[in-house]
Amino acid sequence: MARCPLCGKPLDWRELMEQMLAKRGNEMKKILLDKEIFLNELRDFVFKCPHCGEEFYGKTLPEKEAEKVFELLNEFKGSIDWENGRVRLRLNSLLALDTMLEEWDRKVKGSKI
Ligand SMILES: [Zn+2]
Repeated sequence: MARCPLCGKPLDWRELMEQMLAKRGNEMKKILLDKEIFLNELRDFVFKCPHCGEEFYGKTLPEKEAEKVFELLNEFKGSIDWENGRVRLRLNSLLALDTMLEEWDRKVKGSKI
């Protein structure tokens, strides 16, 4: 789970993406076309923790989750409300679900051996 590197509190990916949307605006449409561009942009982006108010670089966030976020945003049409700069998906819930399914998959496969 993504956490603030300074205070350790859990972060909401939806809010993080909205911070990027607020700064990049429509430029995000281009950024979201390519995973490498997105990840590069995210690594250098300065996020602000909503809990402690400190700033940190995106590269401190778990990259595996960032990749999933990229996929989720691209997979669902209308995942972003461009006019209002809002993300419509509950990214953290979807990430949690995804992890759960992976675990489940591993268990099922493991039990067959
Ligand atoms: Zn913090």
